[in-house]
Amino acid sequence: MKIPGVEYRTLCRYCNLGSELLIAEEDDFTVYAYDEPFNNGHIVIVPRRHVSLSELSVNELYRALRLVRKAEAVLRNTYHPHGLNIGLVAYPHVAFHVVPRWGGDVSFIKVFFNAKPIPETPIQYAERLRKAWGS
Ligand SMILES: [Zn+2]
Repeated sequence: MKIPGVEYRTLCRYCNLGSELLIAEEDDFTVYAYDEPFNNGHIVIVPRRHVSLSELSVNELYRALRLVRKAEAVLRNTYHPHGLNIGLVAYPHVAFHVVPRWGGDVSFIKVFFNAKPIPETPIQYAERLRKAWGS
């Protein structure tokens, strides 16, 4: 249920990712470096419209998965991870997270301090992935 008078779009993290994190714009979707990355290279793919998973058309779902597949190729070529995780946020704004994984990447620092050292900032890796995405 939505509360009348509340502008949900202004509260939505996916509607408010900065242009400095932009990797690519394709069809009705935007590809960003995530501002709170789990790992270096963490990408999020979101529709420009503030919609949930069930509000995407089948055609949009297909296009989203094509972008997820492109993200896999770009991340594999750029970072050579041991694996990739795909995470899906369904509501209120559907978002496909693509996270490179390396063996042992959950360190004691994460466990004890809930923090994780990452070699590049999201702005730095957005620039690197923007180039890789376009090539
Ligand atoms: Zn949104």
